[in-house]
Amino acid sequence: MRAEILCVGSELLLGQIIDTNAAYIAQRLARAGIDVHRKQTAGDNLERIVDCIRGALSRADILVITGGLGPTTDDLTRDAISLALDAPLEFDEAIAQHLRDWFAGRQITIVDSILRQAYVPRGAVALDNPAGTAPGLRAETPDKKLLFAVPGVPREMKVLLDNSIIPFLLERVEGKPQLIVSRLLRSFGIGESMIAEPLEDILTTATNPTAAPLIFGNTEVHLRLTAKAESEAAAKILLDELEATIRERVGEHIFGVDEQTLPAVLLNALEERGETLAVAESLTGGVANAFLSDVPGASKVLRGGVIAYSIDMKADILGVSRDLITEKGVVSAETAIAMAEGVRKISGATYGLSTTGEAGPQSQSGADVGTVFIGIADANGSRAVERHFSGDRDAIRRRASLAAIDILRRQLRE
Ligand code: ATP
Ligand code: MG
Repeated sequence: MRAEILCVGSELLLGQIIDTNAAYIAQRLARAGIDVHRKQTAGDNLERIVDCIRGALSRADILVITGGLGPTTDDLTRDAISLALDAPLEFDEAIAQHLRDWFAGRQITIVDSILRQAYVPRGAVALDNPAGTAPGLRAETPDKKLLFAVPGVPREMKVLLDNSIIPFLLERVEGKPQLIVSRLLRSFGIGESMIAEPLEDILTTATNPTAAPLIFGNTEVHLRLTAKAESEAAAKILLDELEATIRERVGEHIFGVDEQTLPAVLLNALEERGETLAVAESLTGGVANAFLSDVPGASKVLRGGVIAYSIDMKADILGVSRDLITEKGVVSAETAIAMAEGVRKISGATYGLSTTGEAGPQSQSGADVGTVFIGIADANGSRAVERHFSGDRDAIRRRASLAAIDILRRQLRE
């Protein structure tokens, strides 16, 4: 079964909203074992929507349309389906009554345009929309091709897809549906080519499961593993095997799976060990502490932190020697180490982490923009790591914060 997706809405073409609906629909179809071959986006223009529908139905077995089903004059999907299928719109009194009841129940006066939603192309079936007013649509062409239309509002789209469309398709798909299950392995701190190179054979030749690298949010490289199988359990076995092979080769770089974030992984690891953490920040100005405290339950592990921007704060609160700063510079391994030791001492945490560096855009310290020293202190001693980040001020501060978190995460693995 081949499917296509059509997204309707001029906002999508103007770049005002990001097309998250298509991603959701594609994922759900994939899980149902249905291959998505193409995706189109059309603005609110009747002729072009009709054109897209006709094109899709000439190629695919299934077309899922999202958007443009509402009551306003720029909502043209219903009319376009009617034209493309040559099925005149017919007034459906049951839908109209449902709409009248819906509005009466909320004590809102119903305007005539709302009743546009009560028109259904001849032969099509209206799909109940428990999350809104516009019903979805299901239609079948004489040559047995299936067309579905759902509203653009993501919440409504999801309900209709999950409750009506996917179950319908699963029943229709001949034989046992093949499930497609994916798993993300997340890495931080190395480039795409560095993770891809040791995995070259897997990335280029594996067919089931497959693995593909993708860059995520400028800071992480993800490996998406995808398996096809008859059941979740069978897919899991395939994914477990591939994951184990990948971890043998590049395991130290993989910090988490699926939804796990780097700060959450570090805090979890510390919690399991019964250890605590405090972070002294200069150039990152609180970003590292914010990332860590974003994690629910962070207080079990995160003692807190100090934003020590000025030399006075570094000296008076963290106890960094003024002579050391004068001699070595604010942006130096020695200062990073003294900050980490200082925050560890005043917080009583197992680990003290620190960041000092040059976030730019102009260098204030004399160090090159992007130069960062990360300090780590624990009962066994202390050390600093030097890193160089590219990007603007915001990127450098975020990368430095995550790098500090990652350095401690890697240390705990040893
Ligand atoms: P409504 O009944 O609300 O008018 P509709 O079916 O007419 O629903 P649209 O008017 O096209 O849908 O879109 C409604 C809202 O849903 C948009 O303003 C947008 O915020 C969101 N939306 C539409 N299409 C998408 C999409 N492809 N991805 C993400 N969000 C979308
Ligand atoms: Mg609309």
